Amino acid sequence: MAITIKNDREIELMRQAGHIVGLAHARVQPAIVPGVTTKELDDIVRDVIEENDAVATFFGHLGFTGHICASINEEIVHGIPGKKTLRDGDIISIDIGATYGGFIGDSAWTYPVGTIDEASRRLLDVTETSLYLGIEQAVAGNRLGDIGNAIERYVTSLGYGMVREYGGHGVGRQMWEEPHVPNHGRAGTGILLREGMTIAIEPMVNIGGDETHQLEDGWTVITRDRTRSAHFEHTVLITSGPAEILTKRVAAVV
Ligand code: MG
Ligand code: MG
Repeated sequence: MAITIKNDREIELMRQAGHIVGLAHARVQPAIVPGVTTKELDDIVRDVIEENDAVATFFGHLGFTGHICASINEEIVHGIPGKKTLRDGDIISIDIGATYGGFIGDSAWTYPVGTIDEASRRLLDVTETSLYLGIEQAVAGNRLGDIGNAIERYVTSLGYGMVREYGGHGVGRQMWEEPHVPNHGRAGTGILLREGMTIAIEPMVNIGGDETHQLEDGWTVITRDRTRSAHFEHTVLITSGPAEILTKRVAAVV
């Protein structure tokens, strides 16, 4: 599928979809406490999405049974929500997709559960910072490789494992559109970024090595060395200036 440039109407629908994803994150965050199950978090997100006349993008996608991906500790991405109970000191990546008016918003965030150790806190900080370094490069006139290069240089300079088998993607009517947006690469290479492109940037960073392993459930991806991993993602709109973050966290309007 070719790279799509969104028109004004499509961009407005992308904003709406992104807004709903931001809202769902804001609503689920306070529920991320020791003792909660990932299914309970899934229910909260499903309800927010449905209350806003949107559809949970992941549900049913290639047979996926969750409305969110819930990936705990050494799980990198694509964890399936279920009976697992969160414990004090865990970290959990919640990945949310919402489809509104035919367009998709996609954003993941890794949250602490109760009190986390210093190494986990630092992992979250480094991964979040790397996301914003990538977004800074997502400007019309730059090239795709500028994004991955900024992320990779920062993450690896601090000694963390940069996951290379998975990455970001164009997003619009489909969740995975062209181009693939790697979290590594050479500056000045790759396709030219143009106004009206919408892409998801999503670094996945491990405390240890960068190797991954997929579990037998066919979905959950973990670190091969079982060290913890974090994942932060925003859907952004490329403009002539700074990228517009479409999935910003928003508080519920009461
Ligand atoms: Mg996502
Ligand atoms: Mg994504």
